Amino acid sequence: MPNHDIALIGLAVMGQNLVLNMANHGFSVAVHNRTTSVTDEFVGGLPGEPEDKVHPGTAERIAGYESVEEMVKNLKRPRRVMIMVKAGGPVDAVINQLKDLLEPGDIIIDGGNSDFYDTNRRSKELREAGLLFIGTGVSGGEEGALKGPSIMPGGHKEAWPHVKDILQSISAKVGENNDIPCCEWVGEDGAGHYVKMVHNGIEYGDMQLICEAYFILKHALGLSNDELHQVFKEWNEGELASYLIEITRDIFTVKDKETGNDLVDMILDTAKQKGTGKWMSQHALDLGVPTTLITEAVYARCLSAQKDARVRASKLLAGPDGEFDGDRKQFIEDVRQALYASKLVSYAQGFVQLDAAAEEFGWKLSNGDISLLWRGGCIIRSVFLQDIKAAFDKNPDLENLLLDDFFKKAIDQAQPSWRRVVSAAVNLGLPVPGFSAALTYYDGYRRDRLPANLLQAQRDYFGAHTYERVDKERGETFHTDWIRER
Ligand code: NAP
Repeated sequence: MPNHDIALIGLAVMGQNLVLNMANHGFSVAVHNRTTSVTDEFVGGLPGEPEDKVHPGTAERIAGYESVEEMVKNLKRPRRVMIMVKAGGPVDAVINQLKDLLEPGDIIIDGGNSDFYDTNRRSKELREAGLLFIGTGVSGGEEGALKGPSIMPGGHKEAWPHVKDILQSISAKVGENNDIPCCEWVGEDGAGHYVKMVHNGIEYGDMQLICEAYFILKHALGLSNDELHQVFKEWNEGELASYLIEITRDIFTVKDKETGNDLVDMILDTAKQKGTGKWMSQHALDLGVPTTLITEAVYARCLSAQKDARVRASKLLAGPDGEFDGDRKQFIEDVRQALYASKLVSYAQGFVQLDAAAEEFGWKLSNGDISLLWRGGCIIRSVFLQDIKAAFDKNPDLENLLLDDFFKKAIDQAQPSWRRVVSAAVNLGLPVPGFSAALTYYDGYRRDRLPANLLQAQRDYFGAHTYERVDKERGETFHTDWIRER
């Protein structure tokens, strides 16, 4: 008699914690891992007595299977199988294995960080095979997977009623009564993984902006790590309150066991970029949308990775390296405002990219729902997302978050500070790619005339690419023989 509500394949850190989360919520879960010893260790290691990770009765609700075939036979119908393996080839390998074992109407859920192009392809292939497919973003890392992640499902909508209960039960909850799930249907095909990709890109942007604020306060004002802890503590009590500000606050308090120094100062200043943040920037270029801040955040990681080259250049290249000599208290507040305004631009760009992708792929995305999904459980969770949701609830067709009254006012207030910080950083020789990209986007977006008229003239001059005129219908093109007309 089939008795499991769902199966999960892939028992690495995310898979194990999602299984515990499901079983903690009363679902019966069948589990399998390619390497059988991992399944045995996981199932065998489940404590009989309740503890923080495992609620009463959880262990009895989890059953390990060495064979996928045997596991599938023991699932309630329609069968639901979630895959949590390494993104790319491994997901296709597991799907191919399942294809032969499942029946029409059964559901495969890919919860890994898959490329949305792969999810689009798998949606099509599995539709043809008669199976239902969901590609879902899962954010929140190890702890989120256990205690409540943000879940962004997309794919075949007929599958949603069959998985909604499980996915919403295990997701993070927000709202006054803590009962609004951070899990809602996103859209067709690869839409769920696209939204996860944008989430990760925004995460890159948020982290870069916080790092720039840290760098300015450390170098321009010479703040100590204790003072930085205090600043971030205060920031976390206001409109910047968020998971990333909170962990940054705490990072400044941790000592290195080996040397006794502050651990943050012992960490090499190089970062990698190879995942979804880069994918988002690449796709922004494909769509022709200026997601400048997130792209700068990716480039900032690239530059950080060139450590040896930077060390060599630091001995050869000159530039200012002074300290700020104005009102220090005001400057700290200016940096806070610059961070807030830049962050707003980053989210505005992210949602513009989502709109462009929705148009490109024919998805019906709700930006209000998406901001709700990110309010809890995930890395970019923040108070600020509540205001974003309110803006999209007020106007679901909002062209750009910067045009919403609440945010327009916020930017108006922050602008003088934002400009002072970018100017000060430039004058002091401190790199602020995120702050300045955000401000430059803002200044470009708010101008009805940009210098592209000259650009078009140049293109027409050397390549006869033609141009449109300000006094004629859009779409009508003109060419000038510039050499003859000189
Ligand atoms: P992972 O290190 O990405 O993947 C390891 C798992 O994949 C193991 O169970 C491994 O099985 C399995 N696997 C690899 N190749 C396989 C193949 N060819 N066939 C079958 N199984 C295969 O694990 P993870 O960190 O838990 O992440 C799982 C997914 O969630 C990934 O897509 C990841 O990007 C995404 N994700 C991770 C996080 C995080 O914080 N870690 C957060 C959000 C999303 P064996 O034990 O047999 O090697």
